[in-house]
Amino acid sequence: MPAFEDRVFRQAIDQAYNAVLVTTGELDLPGPKIVYVNPALCAQTGYTAAELIGQTPRILQGPDTDPAVLQHLRATIADGGFFEGQTVNYRKDGTPYLVHWNISPIFDEREQITHYVSVQSDITERERFERFNQQLMASLGEGVFGVDHHGRLTLINKAAMDLLGYTNEQALLGTNAHELMHARYPDDRHYPEIECPITHVMQTETPLEAWRDTFFRADGQPLSVETYATPLYDAFNETEGVVVVFRDVSQQLSLEAQLEHAAHHDRLTGAFNRHFFDGLVEKELARSARRGEPLSILILDIDHFKRVNDDHGHVVGDDVLKELVKHISERVRESDVLTRWGGEEFALLLPDTSLEGARQLAETLRASVEAARFGEGLPNLTISIGGAQLDASETPKAGFRRADSALYKAKESGRNRVCMANSR
Ligand code: GH3
Ligand code: MG
Ligand code: MG
Repeated sequence: MPAFEDRVFRQAIDQAYNAVLVTTGELDLPGPKIVYVNPALCAQTGYTAAELIGQTPRILQGPDTDPAVLQHLRATIADGGFFEGQTVNYRKDGTPYLVHWNISPIFDEREQITHYVSVQSDITERERFERFNQQLMASLGEGVFGVDHHGRLTLINKAAMDLLGYTNEQALLGTNAHELMHARYPDDRHYPEIECPITHVMQTETPLEAWRDTFFRADGQPLSVETYATPLYDAFNETEGVVVVFRDVSQQLSLEAQLEHAAHHDRLTGAFNRHFFDGLVEKELARSARRGEPLSILILDIDHFKRVNDDHGHVVGDDVLKELVKHISERVRESDVLTRWGGEEFALLLPDTSLEGARQLAETLRASVEAARFGEGLPNLTISIGGAQLDASETPKAGFRRADSALYKAKESGRNRVCMANSR
């Protein structure tokens, strides 16, 4: 009857989830013989205990078993050392599996090695899962990174490194992600971590979706991004950090800006277009009424512009229109809105400007256009201007009509003139 301890240990090993294999201690050919395997090892390899007992562990090896690992194994255990390693083993049916195993020697009272005990794990599934995750991360076009409770990088994929301009993953892991790429606002103000919405995801456990922000690259250049951030939960359902997915939206933003610009501006001259102007006037009128500020409008029309086209061609005419817009834009306030009203007619909306102020500006513009050159070989250009101060009690249209009538008068009275409508 074996001792109590022997029975307990024997049962413990028979019941263990890990595969256990014991061999004799002789290393000379034909090598150690298997003297014991537990049921977990049989399950792992597909052999019965009877099939394995008396064999050498080579029965588990095959073409992809790594000779270098085996060599290291022999060298280690021959010296009585503890071996740990990983390689490919084969089941009875020939299918390979990835084994992680250790071997330790058993000594007798004379310090001679009598046996080797080996504990083995089939890590094929774990490795498959890890590789899948790695390959998934590496193949994503989106940048992905993870941070821990302290905001330190725990992982970062290739796309994220490429987008941010880094090459050394190991150097990044452990650094504070916010400090690394998010320490400033686009206007260069300090961006405290406490204000960072990614930090809030951790605190509130609420995901962040399609958040537009600016990261900074390794070279200091800003990168416009759209980010998604999700809390990461560990096996015990405690938050252990946040995973952030982001993509570069610089191109999309510039396309959006171009579209918006095109929707609001005249293509030839770059002045605002009528569509934008009509939407703006109502707002400006309400705003100036609220603030008790005057709002005026000037309508400018080139004198005898047909002659420019007739004498020099339409293309030259186009260039003159572009030059004129440039000329006027440089001489008005930033808050003034220059619009291409029609062919060679322009409107200038002048916030916080009285009728008298508008007249003075109109006179300045008229005189400077008359003095300027708008192209080689072209005669001097003149403009006529009609103006009015808009009144909140009338519709914008009524105000424009008064300015238009004034323009008509300016033309009638000889052109190259300014004519202002009386206040209502
Ligand atoms: P005035 O205003 O002094 O009465 O004479 P005008 O010759 O300027 O006459 P009007 O305003 O009636 O004619 C405007 C001309 O402007 C007609 C058209 O040939 C020209 N025009 C309008 N839009 C464009 C444009 O986009 N490009 C060019 N090149 N010419 C244009
Ligand atoms: Mg004209
Ligand atoms: Mg005209």
